Amino acid sequence: MTVTRGTSNSNDRGSAAQRRVRKQWLLDTFGNGEHAYCCFLGCKEALTFETITVDRFPIPGCEGGTYKRGNIRPMCGFHNSSTGAKLGAQRTKEKKEAEKKNV
Ligand SMILES: [Zn+2]
Repeated sequence: MTVTRGTSNSNDRGSAAQRRVRKQWLLDTFGNGEHAYCCFLGCKEALTFETITVDRFPIPGCEGGTYKRGNIRPMCGFHNSSTGAKLGAQRTKEKKEAEKKNV
């Protein structure tokens, strides 16, 4: 059985090698090549290659955002998972309200 969450990472997330290249690109572009900072407002978390996670922005994953350069920014794991969960919850709420209107 395949379990699908609201936000699937299966769309062109790429291979492990591609993801390594992407992480390094974020460190180079948003930082000094070794460190970059979480893009979440007010977060000062310094991210390294080991701790950096890729946030899809401005188009989030649940709206079809891809991991292409130009739609990614560095984020710490904590904020990345918390923003994704918020977007998912918001979307579920809107879906339920839309269904209510159709009844
Ligand atoms: Zn953060």
